Amino acid sequence: MDRTRLIELARDARERAYAPYSHFPVGAALLGRSGRVYTGCNVENASYPAGICAERCAVAKAVSEGEREFLAIAVVGDTDGPCAPCGICRQVLVEFGLGMLVIMANLKGDVRALAACELLPGAFTGADMSRAHEGSSSRG
Ligand SMILES: [Zn+2]
Repeated sequence: MDRTRLIELARDARERAYAPYSHFPVGAALLGRSGRVYTGCNVENASYPAGICAERCAVAKAVSEGEREFLAIAVVGDTDGPCAPCGICRQVLVEFGLGMLVIMANLKGDVRALAACELLPGAFTGADMSRAHEGSSSRG
């Protein structure tokens, strides 16, 4: 699975976005270690916070189908520059791999790829929580 194909799948997923409020459809395609690809699109709601972004939609699909290790995710939106994931999605992506490649693209063909950890420097992760737990138990 090359980058170009993953971007194409994200573009296709974007066509299925449900974005009647923002009119800003986004598509994502998440490549699992198994080789399987899980697509996602934004799914909005009249109660705005109930909506979900394309990236998290793809992650939820994958995890619910048993996949937890990911190599890359492509994100496509109609932005001036490559479409960047929002802060909440960055947090969700680092949960499943600081090294996951995040391929940001737009409809004009601009592409930028960075590791998830580069998109969220100093990320709070599960490792931080285990350290906190160790710390509290060592203090007795
Ligand atoms: Zn997001």
